[in-house]
Amino acid sequence: MRCTVVGAGVSGLSCAVRLLEAGHDVEVISDRFSPDTVSDVAAAIWYPFLTAPADRADTWGIVTYAELERLANEEPDSGVRMRDGREYLREVVAPPAWRDEIAAFSILDQREIPDGYVFGWQFRAPVIEMHLYMPWLRSRAESLGGRFRQSFVEDLGGVPGDVVVNCVGLGARELCQDNEVKPARGQVIFLDQDPGIGHFDQQPGTLTYTIPRSDMTVLGGTAQVDDWGMDIRPEDNDLILEKVEALWPDLDRSKIIGGAVGLRPSRSEVRLEAEDIDGRKVIHNYGHGGAGVTLSWGCAEEVAELVAQST
Ligand SMILES: Cc1cc2nc3c(=O)[nH]c(=O)nc-3n(C[C@H](O)[C@H](O)[C@H](O)COP(=O)(O)OP(=O)(O)OC[C@H]3O[C@@H](n4cnc5c(N)ncnc54)[C@H](O)[C@@H]3O)c2cc1C
Repeated sequence: MRCTVVGAGVSGLSCAVRLLEAGHDVEVISDRFSPDTVSDVAAAIWYPFLTAPADRADTWGIVTYAELERLANEEPDSGVRMRDGREYLREVVAPPAWRDEIAAFSILDQREIPDGYVFGWQFRAPVIEMHLYMPWLRSRAESLGGRFRQSFVEDLGGVPGDVVVNCVGLGARELCQDNEVKPARGQVIFLDQDPGIGHFDQQPGTLTYTIPRSDMTVLGGTAQVDDWGMDIRPEDNDLILEKVEALWPDLDRSKIIGGAVGLRPSRSEVRLEAEDIDGRKVIHNYGHGGAGVTLSWGCAEEVAELVAQST
């Protein structure tokens, strides 16, 4: 079957790989490619954050965890590595539904919890170094015969192919007139210092993280909804540093080496469904908010199943 994937972020590239592996002919059309997509700015750790619907997202997340863990073990060039992290909470909550599906999950001892927090857990999760992972995904698609074309799509009905897979992220506001898709602005700081273990508070109101990559640590964060600003703001850097220092007092500000801003494609819930447009199947896969990497393989596999149902 001839499949056209629109969008070359992590969602589009993951779908392209799964469709090629299933034997389809695949072309990816996109106006921007790595390193100029939102996906390139992702911090990125596997963790379900700012995403819904909960039951489907948990399944997509678990499928993705398994694939990223496999890549960490078998494909070192992919830029995926397993790291330990601690999530801190300001109230006692039920542990997440996915706790039994991931490695080394345990509830923290009171002595391991910083001031201001009362509860938390430790976990092992894939850290995805996007500057390595995005080119790796593209070359995986190319090695399977995938083709790439740069073009801005104004009308999904005008795209060639038997099936179209729509992975345009924030672009769905225009392309699908979907005003539910909104930017959730994220600013990050790059630091040449390793915290050893990742420290997290991933509640939207207090979002704080340290994600240790092999070459540096990514500090965050912000999640400013409906904010389209792409400049790095000094006041956001101050806020991020203050929040991170509460979790990691040893942070050395003299080791800051840069920063970035990206607009997460947030939506009340991920839109993953098939639609008939002018007699042809279009499969939408966008609106992954702060978890597009975390959900990528699970969503790609569901997209591939929907394509298989149309053969
Ligand atoms: C600071 C920050 C930190 C983050 N950290 C994490 C993290 O730790 N873990 C995690 O899982 N996620 C994280 N995210 C979220 C993650 O980056 C997104 O959920 C994910 O990148 C969305 O991927 P996507 O492929 O759907 O969209 P995008 O990466 O935005 O890709 C969309 C693609 O569609 C193309 N496109 C759009 N409109 C059109 C059009 N009309 N015609 C042709 N092409 C079009 C674009 O050019 C682009 O190639 C973070 C995001 C930010 C900003």
